[in-house]
Amino acid sequence: MALVRPSSEERGPDGARRDDFPHHPTLVEIAQRQREIEAWETLNADGYRFAKSGAIVAFVVTAVAVFLTVTPVPPNWPWNVPMSILAIFAAVAMVVCGLLWLDQPRVGPRPELLGIVPFSRAENLHLMGEQAIEPYYASCPCPGCGDECTHLLRRTADDEPQWAAVTRHCRVCEREWAQA
Ligand SMILES: [Zn+2]
Repeated sequence: MALVRPSSEERGPDGARRDDFPHHPTLVEIAQRQREIEAWETLNADGYRFAKSGAIVAFVVTAVAVFLTVTPVPPNWPWNVPMSILAIFAAVAMVVCGLLWLDQPRVGPRPELLGIVPFSRAENLHLMGEQAIEPYYASCPCPGCGDECTHLLRRTADDEPQWAAVTRHCRVCEREWAQA
């Protein structure tokens, strides 16, 4: 009778699970997230930029104009007439700016910045154990981050796949993978 081991498929030859390792964003994902952050910042900054300062300035102007109009502090009549008109205009501007200030566009929270998460030796060994046989290419994309350049090359170590002739090393994300 066979024993049921439901998690055996998820584990690699070294007993490590894919879930045990962090997510490694690729260079394309990082660039895409950077564009999303820039778009978010543009949208956020372009929401009524003047509204907050406009409401505060209009409130101060209204308060000063009303104070000068209703108190015997100079300048008095006939200056009280333009002062009251100024107070009314400033009050209207204050209400408009205040409403715009409250009506900021809702663009959601700022997207989180992505960065390169370096691969550990244990993770590299785990991934090499799972990888399909790959022929040698002088220049190829890194399977971890997608960086395309001539990656560093070294002799395969004893604990790396037996079929491999060389091990490639990415300088960007420190991913290592085997090539025949
Ligand atoms: Zn890489």
